[in-house]
Amino acid sequence: MKKALIVGGGIGGTAMAMALQRAGIESRIFEAYDRPAEYTGLFLNVASNGLDALRAIDVEVVERADGFPMPRMVMWSGTGKRLGEVANGMPLPDGTVSVCVRRGALQKALREQALDRGIGIEYGKRLETYEVTADGVVVAKFTDGTDAAGDILIGADGIRSRTRQILDANSAKPRFTGLVGVGGYSRADLAPTTDTQHFIFGKRAFFGYLVRESGETYWFANLHRSDEPIRKELAAIPTAQWQRQLRDLFADDLPVINEIITNSVGDIGAHLVYDIPTSPVWHRGPAVLIGDAVHATSPSAGQGASMAVEDAVILARCLRDAPDINAAFTAYEQLRRPRVERVVAYSKTLSNSKSAGPVARVFRDLVMPIALKLFAGQKSHAWMYTHHIDWNEKVAMHVA
Ligand SMILES: Cc1cc2nc3c(=O)[nH]c(=O)nc-3n(C[C@H](O)[C@H](O)[C@H](O)COP(=O)(O)OP(=O)(O)OC[C@H]3O[C@@H](n4cnc5c(N)ncnc54)[C@H](O)[C@@H]3O)c2cc1C
Repeated sequence: MKKALIVGGGIGGTAMAMALQRAGIESRIFEAYDRPAEYTGLFLNVASNGLDALRAIDVEVVERADGFPMPRMVMWSGTGKRLGEVANGMPLPDGTVSVCVRRGALQKALREQALDRGIGIEYGKRLETYEVTADGVVVAKFTDGTDAAGDILIGADGIRSRTRQILDANSAKPRFTGLVGVGGYSRADLAPTTDTQHFIFGKRAFFGYLVRESGETYWFANLHRSDEPIRKELAAIPTAQWQRQLRDLFADDLPVINEIITNSVGDIGAHLVYDIPTSPVWHRGPAVLIGDAVHATSPSAGQGASMAVEDAVILARCLRDAPDINAAFTAYEQLRRPRVERVVAYSKTLSNSKSAGPVARVFRDLVMPIALKLFAGQKSHAWMYTHHIDWNEKVAMHVA
């Protein structure tokens, strides 16, 4: 195989190109945005398993993306009862722990490292469709009227993946999880929450925050909505209106929330939270899907970016070791499907716990401290965090 076309220059797409290069496969990235999207999105978690996957391809993001360690999560009820503590990831052998990064900074760090390695990224290339010629060449066609040819096409084009729709007309539609995510940054006068993110199960909504050593606060809220709001309407809500609404929503909860919201700086962003619990088709012919395009997860487990990077590294190893493209894609799906579906399901259960009614809330506040002690030790999440990728290990093929 000589050349891969990567549709989407997000987290998964850029990691994919670097992993393919390490496997000796040339690629080119085609991104719909007309310029690098380095200021989009809020902040996210790159879990220890995601950092492990990046190491397999010698990609550094902690320093380059101004990441900071976030190994600990403390849960509170809205009334201030400490419900317990959960580890965010498990330290890698050298002690490295999960980090928090601004999504834009992570994107920039990946893009710069891809460019340093000579990988081509084209902007303003929104995939419209693709075709496969009689001799097996895949031709991607973009909305600007241009096209590009390659041996395989990798759809890394996110939750609304066009590649997924073309690959399988009956493909899964993103599922609204019932949550609206709202968030931003703040300059409230709070002490740093070193290594710790706090989560508050409020009376009407869920709130998360951390304070950096610099005093800057990163925060988000999850609001429950049984109906699915219209995205454009949500995007049109001005920051001042969000501040008013959030202050009302959290009026009966810990006062720190209102302090953070009142002192928020810059725009407050909002988005609907979707996931894709399972996708029937992961690959067909020369096309394959990675990341959110095939298994988007709600952000509650903090695994979206890490799963996309793991996909990229494992797909590259499969392409390196398999006798042909179909065997590589089959092995990739076999290796990835059980794990990513488990992560999406786990994340959904966390999302559900954020929107309890009054009776469930009382029960949760009583039971959670015990449950966290019993079931939320580091070992109970080891399946998610200790996933290790050995780049040099040959991929075993179990293809019939
Ligand atoms: C703008 C944005 C903001 C986000 N903010 C957050 C956040 O604050 N917190 C969080 O936890 N997660 C956030 N996410 C999701 C998180 O980044 C992903 O879950 C994770 O990184 C998975 O990576 P991915 O590469 O599969 O998808 P993404 O990172 O979503 O990348 C997909 C890329 O494909 C491009 N694309 C889409 N359609 C086409 C097309 N037809 N042709 C070509 N390119 C296309 C997109 O522009 C995007 O660059 C955000 C995603 C985006 C796109």
